[in-house]
Amino acid sequence: MFGLGVLKGLSVTLKHFIDTYGDDFKYVYFKGTEARKEAFLRRQGPEGRGLFTVQYPEEKLTPPENFRFIPFLLTDYEVLPNSPDYNPQEAREQTRCTSCGICAKVCPPQCIWMVRASDPITGKPVSKSAEFYIDIDICMNCGYCAEFCPFDSIKMDHDYELADYERQNGHIHDLKRLTKSVSYYNAIRPTWNAKEVAARQVAEEEKRRKEEERQRKAAEKATAKPIKAKES
Ligand code: SF4
Ligand code: SF4
Repeated sequence: MFGLGVLKGLSVTLKHFIDTYGDDFKYVYFKGTEARKEAFLRRQGPEGRGLFTVQYPEEKLTPPENFRFIPFLLTDYEVLPNSPDYNPQEAREQTRCTSCGICAKVCPPQCIWMVRASDPITGKPVSKSAEFYIDIDICMNCGYCAEFCPFDSIKMDHDYELADYERQNGHIHDLKRLTKSVSYYNAIRPTWNAKEVAARQVAEEEKRRKEEERQRKAAEKATAKPIKAKES
């Protein structure tokens, strides 16, 4: 019949519209406002009814663990940047980055650059970055830098809300902006962090075992020498 398809389509829309309010009523009004998060998660899952779109920015989906956006540098300094005790110098000092330059070399669009720090007394270069920059307008979020870093120092962030009113300096992230704590990394990528911690423990254990083996052999050699000397 002419117009039946249109009516069917509209009825689907109407059903979603009514389901949306039914869901809100059930999860939010009957269970209190605390249930809003539960209702939101349910609506995004296979059992969701009603409106499927996310009411961004009031509602936000948690990105999956492997989501990649702009890289950041890991520091073992755990004070949060918005805390009054935060010391940016200390945060920089405790970054894992050795300024080896591998990430800058492998970066396909060449949007990383850094300046190696030097010893204030001798003037000799040290394994730290004095400056480190990423141009976020050029970064293509490929994750190569994080993949190739030999020191687990640079990681891919989940923070995608980087819009700015200033498009020159605001989009060049410097050391202060790039440095984030290990606990932040663990919060966004717990599986990755656990794997890396386990791998580091295995490597340290192997190093310790080799050192013990070397010391044992050296001790054996040292005790064997006087005996040989007596025999001759
Ligand atoms: S590869 Fe890692 S350690 Fe080397 S400069 Fe880049 S972030 Fe620093
Ligand atoms: S994610 Fe890719 S493009 Fe962005 S800084 Fe790392 S290597 Fe370069």
